Amino acid sequence: MNASLALEQTAIEYAEKTAYTFLETSATYGELNESVTRFAASLQSLGLQKGDHIALLLGNSPHFIVALYGAMRAGITVIPVNPVYTPNEITYILKNGDVKAVVLLDLLVPLAESIQEHLPLLAHYIVCESGDERAASYHPIEETPHTKMKAFSKMVGFPQPFTAPDLHEEDTAVILYTSGTTGKPKGAMLTHKNIFSNARDIADYLAISSTDRMITVLPMFHVFCLTVALNAPIVRGAEMVILPAFSPKEVFKAAKEKKATIFAGVPTMYNFLLQLPESDPADFSTVRLCISGGASMPVSLLEQFEKKCNVQISEGYGLSEASPVTAFNPLDKPRKAGSIGCSISNVENRIVDEAGDAVQTGQVGELIVRGPNVMKGYYKMPEETAAAIRDGWLYTGDLARQDEDGYFYIVDRKKDLIIVGGYNVYPREVEEVLYEHDDIIEAAVLGAPDPDYGEAVLAFVVQKGESLTKEDVLRYCKERLVSYKVPASVEFLKELPKNTTGKILRRSLKEQLLNNS
Ligand code: AMP
Repeated sequence: MNASLALEQTAIEYAEKTAYTFLETSATYGELNESVTRFAASLQSLGLQKGDHIALLLGNSPHFIVALYGAMRAGITVIPVNPVYTPNEITYILKNGDVKAVVLLDLLVPLAESIQEHLPLLAHYIVCESGDERAASYHPIEETPHTKMKAFSKMVGFPQPFTAPDLHEEDTAVILYTSGTTGKPKGAMLTHKNIFSNARDIADYLAISSTDRMITVLPMFHVFCLTVALNAPIVRGAEMVILPAFSPKEVFKAAKEKKATIFAGVPTMYNFLLQLPESDPADFSTVRLCISGGASMPVSLLEQFEKKCNVQISEGYGLSEASPVTAFNPLDKPRKAGSIGCSISNVENRIVDEAGDAVQTGQVGELIVRGPNVMKGYYKMPEETAAAIRDGWLYTGDLARQDEDGYFYIVDRKKDLIIVGGYNVYPREVEEVLYEHDDIIEAAVLGAPDPDYGEAVLAFVVQKGESLTKEDVLRYCKERLVSYKVPASVEFLKELPKNTTGKILRRSLKEQLLNNS
C-alpha cells in the first residue's frame, strides 16, 4: 500500500466529510483528494517524476498536506524542512537531499534566491501565496514551466492529465533530516510502507475513528505531527483542526469551537496550556484523549494538567528513524504516568546491554526497535546506516527499562548520562524532582566537567515568581536526592532554549555554558 493510496481510499469512503479546517477555510476528503491529484499532475507537467526529490519549506497549512500527498502520489520523495532554519541549514539539506523543486512560503522567496547558486539541481520554486501584499512584487509567478517560479494556486487550480507511476511500498516516500545522536543532520529514508504502517498501527492503537476531530498544531514538518496528527487522521477519515502555530489561547479556543476529541502535543505545550491564567478547562470537555510524545513528560506536569483539564494524557515514544512511533500507553490497560507504555502492534521494543544482549526486566539498557516502521537507512550514508541498524534492529541511543507488566520507561538519552565520581546520574530523574516544586515551571539538567568528580550536575530552572533562591532549590534537592545527584549549581533563567517542536535543548544550554566559562 502506498501512502497516498490511503487518502484515496478515505476519499472514497468519506468523500463528503470534512478533512480539515484551517482559519476560515475547510475542505472535504473528496476535495482534498482532488487537489492532491491536480498537484501531482502539475508536478509531472514540470517534468518531475518518480524518484525525484521535492522539499517543503512550509508552516502548518493545507498547502503542506496537498504538496506532501501530491508528491507522494506522483512517486516523488518529499523532504519536509523546518522553514525557520538558517540559510546554511536549509542549503545543507537541499544540497544533500538532491532537491529538484521546493514548495515554499512566499516570504521565503528571497532566502531561496540567496542560496540558489549553491543548488544547481534546483529547477522549480512552487510559491504559496500567504496573502502578504509585498509578496506579489517579489516575482512574476507564472504557471509556465520555463520560469523557476510557479504559483501553488495554479498548480492545484487546473485539472491536468495524471499518469499513475509504478509505485512500490519499498519506494522512499519521505526523507526526514534528523540530527540523531551526533554530527551533521542525516536524512532518514522512510518508505511508503514505513509511513503507512505506522499511521495505521497508531490509529488502531489509539482507536482513532472518523468521528474524531484532532487538533493538528504540532509542526507538520516533524515526524510526530506527520504520522500522529496528519497521516493517522487521514487513514481513518477523522477531521484535522489545523492551527498555523502554537498558542495556548488558540488551542483552548479551537478545542471548544471545533469540539475537538484528540489533542497531540509535546510536554512544553502542555506546560504552556497549564500556565495560561485565563484558560477555562471546560474548553477541553469534548477531548477524549491527550497525546504526549517527542520528549519525556514530567509526571508532576502530567498530573497537574490532567487534574486541571479533567482528561487523560497518554504518553508515547518514537523517533524519526522509526516513522516514528514504537510504544504508547494503551487505552485498554492502565495508563502508567512516567511510562511510554507498551509496544504498539507490529513493532518490537527491546532493551539491551553494550553487547547487544537483552537485559533483565527492570535493568537499564539501550532501547532497540524492529518493525515495518523502521527506516530504509540514511540517504547516501551507508556507514551511519550500518551503525544505526544492526541485525535488523534500530539502535535508538535512548536508555530505557521495562517493568514486569511490559511497560517501558525512557531513562534518558545515552549521551546525556552524567557520571559523577563513577555514579550514573540521569538528568531526567533530577528534572522530575525539580518539576515537582510548586514554584518551578521548567527545568533542565546537564553535566559539566568537574576536576574532582569527572562531571558535576548543573540545573537550569525557570521559576514562577522571583521568590526562590539558589539555596532554596539546593536544600529542596538535598531532601529528595542522594548527594551525588544533587546539582552542584543552580542557574535561574527567564526561559529555556527550545527547538521549534518545543523540545528543550540541553545541548544549547551546554554550549552557552561553555561559552561563558
Ligand atoms: P525525533 O527524531 O526528532 O523525533 O527525536 C527522537 C528522540 O526524541 C528520541 O530518540 C528520544 O530521545 C526523544 N523522545 C521521543 N519521545 C520521547 C518520550 N516520550 N520520552 C523521552 N524521550 C522521547
